[in-house]
This record gives sequence, structure tokens and C-alpha cells, in this order.
Amino acid sequence: MEKNYDQYIKAAIDELPETQEQFLQLKKKLSKDHQQPIPTNADLRDRYNELVTAKIIQPSPAFEKILLSRRIRTQSGVAVVAVLTKAYPCPGQCIYCPSEKAMPKSYLSNEPAVMRAIDSHFDPYLQVQNRLRSLELNGHKTDKIELIVMGGTFSYLPKAYQKRFITRCFQACNEYGKNKTWSMEHGTKKVKTIKSLDEKLLIQQKKNEQAKHRIIGLTLETRPDYIDEKEILNFRQLGCTRVELGVQSIFDDVLELNRRGHLTASTIRATKMLKDAGFKLNYHMMPGLPGSTPKRDFEMFRRLFQGPEFQPDMLKIYPTVILKDSPLYEIWKKQNSKTRQKLTADKMCHAEKLKNYRPLTNRVFEKLVLKIKNEAIVPYVRIARLIRDVPTCSIVAGPTVSNLRQIIIPQSNCPCIRCREVREGYTVKEKIILDRIDYAASDGQEIFLQYVSPDKQKLSALLRLRIPRGEIGRASCRERVCQYV
Ligand code: SF4
Ligand SMILES: [Zn+2]
Repeated sequence: MEKNYDQYIKAAIDELPETQEQFLQLKKKLSKDHQQPIPTNADLRDRYNELVTAKIIQPSPAFEKILLSRRIRTQSGVAVVAVLTKAYPCPGQCIYCPSEKAMPKSYLSNEPAVMRAIDSHFDPYLQVQNRLRSLELNGHKTDKIELIVMGGTFSYLPKAYQKRFITRCFQACNEYGKNKTWSMEHGTKKVKTIKSLDEKLLIQQKKNEQAKHRIIGLTLETRPDYIDEKEILNFRQLGCTRVELGVQSIFDDVLELNRRGHLTASTIRATKMLKDAGFKLNYHMMPGLPGSTPKRDFEMFRRLFQGPEFQPDMLKIYPTVILKDSPLYEIWKKQNSKTRQKLTADKMCHAEKLKNYRPLTNRVFEKLVLKIKNEAIVPYVRIARLIRDVPTCSIVAGPTVSNLRQIIIPQSNCPCIRCREVREGYTVKEKIILDRIDYAASDGQEIFLQYVSPDKQKLSALLRLRIPRGEIGRASCRERVCQYV
């Protein structure tokens, strides 16, 4: 098999296809000739590395570029490594949230990131090392890592588990490439006291400051009502730099109807505390929840940036879908379609709203996202995601469109960071200017600096600053987030 891989590599180096499509055609042709399945770029990369190391062939930067799959993944110079915590109960009772056996709350076993975690038995060390290896095999650089810890409400996990989990993520980066064999036992020596866990964490964090694979950002997911001073200190100690906050809605009646277990006041409070402590903030928002309408959903996104209460740095937009194993699925199954048609939303009581709930359709969701992007979004926010990676086969009802960006990009004039940041192939044709946007946020002042083209449509670099008000403000005024794109 390897011999045949050599022929693919030789042919590609000789012919140097210009696009991925041309490379695929070449692989298809050779596979037909050799009567074998088409090799992945990772397979070829593996063999190519062996040939280069053995000095059988000369390194070919042009071929390495062709092998780089999904270049956009590390175009900013940072490799994202997402890991999942083990299955653990969640304090939330949210009606749309699925509970699948042996899976972390709200995650499904057929989601790509979850499948990778299952392969590693949810071991953080193995998850990180496997991901680094896979990224490298696909030609990505992994010297700067953004670690994202998923798995529901991180704050609810036992503190000892939290510390052990994060320690092992750091350890996996520090030791990557040094351990040829990765065993489940590696680094799992039992540590008995919280103090010794603290020390172990600190040792790995310190080591990582000089390591080849450095964690330059660490994201944790939690609920607004789990943020208090103690938790902020805990997040700080773990090395967290960004918090993904499950906000979902800013309307109390919607939060109540969906049994979120907290109200908007918690979101406003958590937002201020996290911003004052210097964390970058990513809100998870859910349009299409029971109790809302497309009109209210649009209003919700407009309000996020209209006043000082919210102003998140990033957004993940996850439309509500009906998934099996969720309480909403049971309610939806029992719906009486006749009643549904007779009543209008504002005339319904809570129970009726639930009984008559209909999720958004693809068309309505697309129109809503387009309106949000064009009319509610501001230049200092990044829309990080537009839809969750739930396989469509698991969605019983609700938006299933997976290529939303491609569908709406031609009609969108979105000013968000992601839509404007420069990508590979962009050449600076005109002067870059420094632009400044000031806005009030959570009882403080935020300043967004961006290097942009004169029409502000192309963004090259950005810097966020926050000046909190009052005593804390004077004491802790500091650079909040610095990011180069
Ligand atoms: S808090 Fe999050 S994980 Fe917990 S039930 Fe609600 S949506 Fe699910
Ligand atoms: Zn955008």
C-alpha cells in the first residue's frame, strides 16, 4: 500500500495540481489505475513525512501546501483543539436539551467532536494528543493552541476533576511528540488532595509557557447563574481566557417557559463580572425557542448591542431544534395541530405556547439570520458559529441547513469580525488605517481598535480594551483581549 502512496506523492509533486479539486481528480485517476480506495491527504502526508525523513525525496513546500486540508482552520496562526469532559449531570432542566446515555449533557454521540472524544474515552490527555496529531497530519501548525473545553456546565463538575482535566490538557501539549506510546494510564497517577492538584496544575502551566505547543487561549462553557467571585478565581487559576456563556434568550418569559433556571438578571450580572475580570465573552443564543417568535428573536439580537447590559465579544447562534431524548420532543409529539392553527402566540398561556410550539423552518431561519447580520450586528463582535454541528439525521424538526454561510453570504452585508477579516490570498492594495470604536458596556467603557482598509471592509488586526468604572475599574484597568488576525 505504501508503495502505491509513493506513486501518488511522486505524481502530485511532478504535476503540482493548483486546486484541491484538481488534486482530487489526480487521486481518483491513480486509485482507478491501482484499484484501491482514494487515500486521504492525512495518509499521504504521513507517508510523505517518512520519505522526507529517510531522505528518499526532497521536501516540497508546494506539495505540502496542496496537502493542507481546510486551510482556514489555522489561517490565523492558532489551531483550535476542542475536548469534551466526561458525562456528568447538569443542574439545568432546559426542555430543549437532550440527555443521551453516557454522553455529556446536551451532546449527541454522533457529533464529530463527540465522536473524537469517545475514541479517546474522554481522556483529556489522549484527546489533545490525538487532535494535535490529526492537525499535524493534515499539515497544520500546532505551536499556538486555542483549547476549547466542551461538555455542558463546566462549573458544575467537581473541582478536583476540573483541575485534573485541565492539568492533563496542559501536560498533553507539553509532552506532545515526546511520548511515542500513549496509554490511558499515562499521567493518571492518583493525586489525593486539592493542594497537590493545584501544584500539579501550576507546574504544567509554567512548563507550557516555554513549550513547543503552547496553549494561548482556554475556553470554558458555563451558565450565567454559576458565575460568582469564587468561580471567577477558579477560572483564572485554571488558565481560562474566554468564557462561553449559555445565555440562550434575554426574555424572562422565554427563559421561564424553557425551564432555564435563571433569568436575564443573572446574564447581566455574569457579563459584568466576567468583563471586569478580563475574560473574553462568547454568548450562546438560541433563536426559535418556545415562547419566542422571529420578530422577538430579531429584537433580542438588536438589544444585545443597543445598550450597555450585554455587548458580548463573540456569538454562537444555535437555532432551536427538536432532538429525541429531550423533554421538548415529548411535548412536541403530543401536539394537537387543530388547536395550533386556531390560537395566535400572544393569546396563549404558557402551557398552550408549549403545546402549540412549532420550530423555525429553514426558510424562516435563513431570513432571520440575514436580517440579524445586516441590521443588528456591530463591527466589534465576531459571529463564531451560525448553526450547531448536530447531524441532520438527529434533528426531528427545526432548521437543518448546514451550509448557511454559503447560502446567505451573497446577500449579506454583515460587518462582524469574521466576515471582514483578511484571508489567505488577500494582498494589501491600499493604505491600512487605524479605526477606533468606543461603546458603553456593563458599567464601563470599551474601546475597539482595528486596522482596516479605508472602506473598513477588510480587517487586518484588532485590539480590545476595557476600562471598568469605580474602585475595581481604577485598580484593574487593563488590556482585555488582544488578537491578531
Ligand atoms: S444548562 Fe446547558 S447542558 Fe444543562 S440542561 Fe441546560 S442546556 Fe443542557
Ligand atoms: Zn459576520
